[in-house]
Amino acid sequence: MNLLTVDLEDWFHICEVEDLLPREKWDKFPSTVVADTMKLLDLVARTKSRATFFVLGYVAEKHPDLVRLIDAMGHNIGYHGWDHELVYKLSPKEFRRILRRGIACIKGLLNKRPIGFRAPQWSINDHSRWALEILAEEGFVYDSSLAPLKIIGNESYPRTPWKIRTVRGDLWELPPLTLKTPFGHYPAGGSWGLRLLPYPLLQQIVRGFNQRQGPTLFYFHPREFGGKKGFVGLPPSKKFAVHGGIWGSESQLVKLLADFRFTSIEQYLSEHPCSSD
Ligand SMILES: [Zn+2]
Repeated sequence: MNLLTVDLEDWFHICEVEDLLPREKWDKFPSTVVADTMKLLDLVARTKSRATFFVLGYVAEKHPDLVRLIDAMGHNIGYHGWDHELVYKLSPKEFRRILRRGIACIKGLLNKRPIGFRAPQWSINDHSRWALEILAEEGFVYDSSLAPLKIIGNESYPRTPWKIRTVRGDLWELPPLTLKTPFGHYPAGGSWGLRLLPYPLLQQIVRGFNQRQGPTLFYFHPREFGGKKGFVGLPPSKKFAVHGGIWGSESQLVKLLADFRFTSIEQYLSEHPCSSD
């Protein structure tokens, strides 16, 4: 059992290049999220895999039918913030307001609220642990925002699903797959794993993790499956991070989904209510 997750956002929702992709220009950019997501949904449907889609409020408001379709196809809907805000840059009050706005929006679309949250760019870390308390208080059951990685998170965080106890209640934490190397943890579960590692190595990593640790968690973005986006010239390091090896995403994902069983976080938690408690 492995976990498949998608951050449902458009190609221009990239952190730390706000000068190139400012919020006030988003409505003018050509949107590709619907076409890219349809392609991804088709790949996932081939193996009848199930996924959790963490929806950005901005996308839910612009493309409500896309969110309804994903839900109708049997996937689960989580929340990814409204305007792709980094949590450690928010005040607790702003974070709570953003959560409530997203809950109301998704509830309005699906008649059910999201129970899971993923912070943009894994931005719940040692500088923003207060956010976990607010998530529990606002009725979230799980979070998937703490990366066991240097810089954006902390390598000391657990690498398998774990329970966080806050004064406002408990939360499940679902970390992304990481590979231990002599140089530190590598984000193997992200699109970096899919795009930049040779498939036999990725297969071996997943198999080994399943045997020794538990479920792996992968996270993708629709923009990684709809072809190269050349609308804005990104700085070289960002370009590599976002587009490097993108031509291989589709064939790698097809192999991964065929070789391993993938499901949504919600389905996993319902089948493993007591694991690592
Ligand atoms: Zn995102």
